[in-house]
Order: sequence, then structure tokens, then C-alpha cells
Amino acid sequence: MTKANQSGRDADPRRTIPLNSARWRKLRAYILNESPMCEHCMARGILTPATDVDHISGDPSDNSMANLQSLCHSCHSIKTARDHGKSVAMGCDLNGMPLDPSHPWYRRSDAVLAGQQAIERQKSRGADGDRPPALSFFNADC
Ligand SMILES: [Zn+2]
Repeated sequence: MTKANQSGRDADPRRTIPLNSARWRKLRAYILNESPMCEHCMARGILTPATDVDHISGDPSDNSMANLQSLCHSCHSIKTARDHGKSVAMGCDLNGMPLDPSHPWYRRSDAVLAGQQAIERQKSRGADGDRPPALSFFNADC
């Protein structure tokens, strides 16, 4: 590993794909193509082109699709600072909504999560699961 690779974000010994490698460039391009807008900005209702790919868990050794997200550089810098235990004050937007995407106001309520889980269970039942429940009582002979 060169000296340049040992500084900055590449210094994390858990990183398995160097940031300057062709493999990372391909993975990064794939993620940005799949999700071209910053996911943290979108959570606040703002459309910002994504420029960075972030490891959601903060663990750079987990390069699974579920652990990668597209962010703008500003959101990525803030999240990375938090991942490293630094305090980041962000304020609020013109509508009074917190700029911090991890603010409790953006957390989904238990009712919303229960509804999403019910939808997922319905989908996982297969073709019959796609049919609305009311249709199962429909009698074609009437
Ligand atoms: Zn952003």
C-alpha cells in the first residue's frame, strides 16, 4: 500500500476496497447510477445529486448493497464526522425542519413500520398475496 493510501479515509484498517481502486470506482458508479440523489437530502424533501457513496453502518469492510447509500458530499461529511464520534450542529431549514436526517422527527412511527411490515408479509405470500383481501370473499356464481 502506498503512503497516499494510508492517509485519510483509507487509513481505516477495516477498509477492504481501496478508494483509488478500479473495483471501488465500479462499485461507486453502480450505486450512484442506481440511486443518483442524496438519500439524506431526500429524507428532508430536497433533491440533491449524490456525489459520494457511504457505508451506512460506518464499517468500510461491509460492501454489501444493503450497507451502501448515495449521499451528497455535505451529507457524507456530516455523517462521517458522526461515525467518528464528532458532534455536528446542523440547525434547521426554512420550514423549521431539522437538517439532521437522524433527528427523531424523521424517525418512522411504530404504526408506519407495522404497516410496512404487513405490506411486506402480503408480498411474500406470492401471487395470491397480490390480491386484495376483499376479493377472497367474492363469489362469481352470484
Ligand atoms: Zn445530502
